[in-house]
Amino acid sequence: MLRETVGSWGNVVRGEHASVSLRSRRDPFPRIDAVDTVLPYGNGRSYGDSCLNVGAGLVHTCGLDRFIRFDRETGVLACEAGVLLADILQIAMPAGWFVPVTPGTCFVTVGGAIANDVHGKNHHGFGTFALHVRQLELLRSDGQRLRCSATENPQWFAATFGGLGLTGIVTWAELQLRRIPGPSMDVETIRFHNLNEFLALSADSDRDFEYTVAWVDCLGRGNQLGRGLFQRANHAAARAENKPRRRLAVPFMPPFSMVNAASLRIFNTAYYHARTGDRRRALVNYAQFFYPLDAILHWNRLYGPQGLYQYQCVIPSSVGLDATAQLLQAIARSGQGSFLAVLKMFGPLPSPGMLSFPRAGITLALDFPNRGERLERLFNDLDAILKSAGGRLYPAKDARMPGSLFRSGFPRWQEFSQYIDPRCSSTFWRRVMEDK
Ligand SMILES: Cc1cc2nc3c(=O)[nH]c(=O)nc-3n(C[C@H](O)[C@H](O)[C@H](O)COP(=O)(O)OP(=O)(O)OC[C@H]3O[C@@H](n4cnc5c(N)ncnc54)[C@H](O)[C@@H]3O)c2cc1C
Repeated sequence: MLRETVGSWGNVVRGEHASVSLRSRRDPFPRIDAVDTVLPYGNGRSYGDSCLNVGAGLVHTCGLDRFIRFDRETGVLACEAGVLLADILQIAMPAGWFVPVTPGTCFVTVGGAIANDVHGKNHHGFGTFALHVRQLELLRSDGQRLRCSATENPQWFAATFGGLGLTGIVTWAELQLRRIPGPSMDVETIRFHNLNEFLALSADSDRDFEYTVAWVDCLGRGNQLGRGLFQRANHAAARAENKPRRRLAVPFMPPFSMVNAASLRIFNTAYYHARTGDRRRALVNYAQFFYPLDAILHWNRLYGPQGLYQYQCVIPSSVGLDATAQLLQAIARSGQGSFLAVLKMFGPLPSPGMLSFPRAGITLALDFPNRGERLERLFNDLDAILKSAGGRLYPAKDARMPGSLFRSGFPRWQEFSQYIDPRCSSTFWRRVMEDK
């Protein structure tokens, strides 16, 4: 057992933990005598406190890094839960397969992808990660090993997707990968001038393009409100020019945030106008399309020692347009926000997870430098808009949502609570449960 200070991607929550590491999927459920509860910890790519258990125990799962089997004909792959999506891509892509759903970084573990039931730019056609997991094993603190699938222990299967690591430790999983014609992406980028145009482009693209996503200028006001760049893409057989990908790194934490009102305004204006013409088509390498931020190691350090928050919400389609406009207005008025504000339409495919975040509607995600009370005031305004629109916030990105917003956004939380392992807990869960 090690006593260590552990944080998460946003660098706003960190604290002391008693930690142990799992080395094999056959290891027993770890006991740490000094603490009452533990939480599995993948690669710490969650932004807030959902991967932390401050003052209690953490179980590092990155040592569960073995592949178990891979059928190159069918694309069925079984691996331990600490394997990264990046590792899967390394062995799957040369055989013509790809992860069916991927978040915006490939440095997440399979266990982390399950526990947050992650989504990607193809949600409108492929749904969440859960829909591509054929089975998994859940290790409980009483020593039981539950094999879970849609037909075997289905209730545990449903609780574990989006289950925030609270139902036990996922030791391994079997995934169905998807075929691809090659490593390149055929990407079209289209400028849009307002949210109505964004919605029209989404509706127009969802059938013929597997991936859609937009960047929106979070400082645009008046007739610039909701302007941005829409991207739609498919996997391509033709090969993109093989440009060596430069890996940059932010080598140390600057003493203050490099993200401020001036840098933000310059970036947003330049980004919007940089593309020549209103429409552009290009063949690019998959990593450039899916993981642009992974090219800059430790980019979160740019936000300085105070760290960053991300606010990612989803708003039901029926009220999505008005509520998104209100959110963007409030953000632009405050002059806060970040370089890359992302907008996407989630599709109607339901997630099996009891606490899965995605639902049909508009999702908006953006990073904010931590400015203390000033930011909290803006978040309170955003929460009020979200609540009256019947929306929800993504726990994987959260470090501050009020308990009432969690409970109204995730109405199945009580049903889910029955499946929590008595030896598992997290800083996030205690926070949203204790906050009335
Ligand atoms: C740059 C960036 C882009 C992102 N883009 C997206 C995106 O597009 N879509 C999206 O959905 N998310 C996105 N995320 C969030 C990220 O995908 C999730 O937070 C993911 O769960 C992190 O995985 P991890 O392995 O780092 O797990 P951690 O962050 O360490 O843990 C996440 C949760 O998984 C649990 N867990 C980890 N391993 C296990 C296990 N073996 N058994 C049981 N529970 C376990 C933990 O207890 C915790 O609750 C992004 C994050 C970053 C930094």
